[in-house]
Amino acid sequence: MKKILKNKFSDLFSKIDESYELFLPIEVDGKVNFDMWKQGDTVNVEKLKTNISPKSFIFPQSETYLKFKRDGKKLELDNVGGKKEEYVLFGVRHCDARSFKLLDNVFLSDPVDALYEERREKGTIVSMACFNPAQTCFCSSFGIEPQTTSKEVDVNTWDIGDSILWDPQTQRGENLTKQLKDILEDVTEQDESELNALQEATNDKLKELPLANLDPKKIKGELNDLFESEIWGELSQRCLGCGSCTYVCPTCHCYDISDFKGDTSGERFRCWDSCMFSDFTLMAHGNIRKTQKERFRQRFMHKLVYYPNNNEGAYACVGCGRCVEKCPVHLDIVKVIKKLGGE
Ligand code: SF4
Ligand code: SF4
Repeated sequence: MKKILKNKFSDLFSKIDESYELFLPIEVDGKVNFDMWKQGDTVNVEKLKTNISPKSFIFPQSETYLKFKRDGKKLELDNVGGKKEEYVLFGVRHCDARSFKLLDNVFLSDPVDALYEERREKGTIVSMACFNPAQTCFCSSFGIEPQTTSKEVDVNTWDIGDSILWDPQTQRGENLTKQLKDILEDVTEQDESELNALQEATNDKLKELPLANLDPKKIKGELNDLFESEIWGELSQRCLGCGSCTYVCPTCHCYDISDFKGDTSGERFRCWDSCMFSDFTLMAHGNIRKTQKERFRQRFMHKLVYYPNNNEGAYACVGCGRCVEKCPVHLDIVKVIKKLGGE
């Protein structure tokens, strides 16, 4: 394990920036989101949750697949999608890192999504452990330990005050560490005991959180009974179908593909979509989910029943709590899990 003094952060970022595109939690007008770093930016690695999750780096909100041009009967295609440059994403919380693994199960299964695969292969992911979970956090309900080590990243880091401890765990992480050898320092026994103390204190904090008892494994029942449960009608009455919950969610991955056309040229792109929207999956014969109740049920049955049934029990939620904070009518997965008996 190594460490970097916080007063050398600027050197660290400049050094990474020499060989990679560097994305960090950047604060603008009080809001923190991941963005490409440049000198003078306000980096905020202490912010617990970015507004938008970092899934947008491996699955962008909007992405051009190809451009096309027509000249008489001749059609020219230009594949522009994908990620060409190596990049480092620094400061990813363990819940968001787990979401990458959940998205891999979708996009890297046969047939592999080539654009997604390219983005995954170009990225070096550096985590940032949490020592101050929020009241809305419930990652522990999904087996995530936010204060220890994430298996889903290339380098784990821990903020212990004046310095950040740095521990590579993949070849990509080792390569990045080698490049930073003049900036990283050896850790001392004192650093390690500070880390242990912070981790133990966090363990206690996690047990005291309001959602600490949430347990999706307690949801019992046959698929059909859960599908027909009356809770969907009750809960969905308030849902506005605004889609905010799906846009902030690190595991939601519905998308749409469209052509944007001019007379002789255009482009094909995909963009995030939401199963909460009334025109989602709208087809020539109509919509397969006609009511908000059906759309609401689909979102949560997918996260809590269909996805785990197809992915060795893994739930499609990481307990980040963003939907708990953002839904304008206070409807969220916590209420659904509780209603289905998961507490
Ligand atoms: S459903 Fe809510 S708590 Fe779960 S991962 Fe999505 S935004 Fe986070
Ligand atoms: S659950 Fe809340 S955030 Fe999600 S679509 Fe309904 S009203 Fe919007």
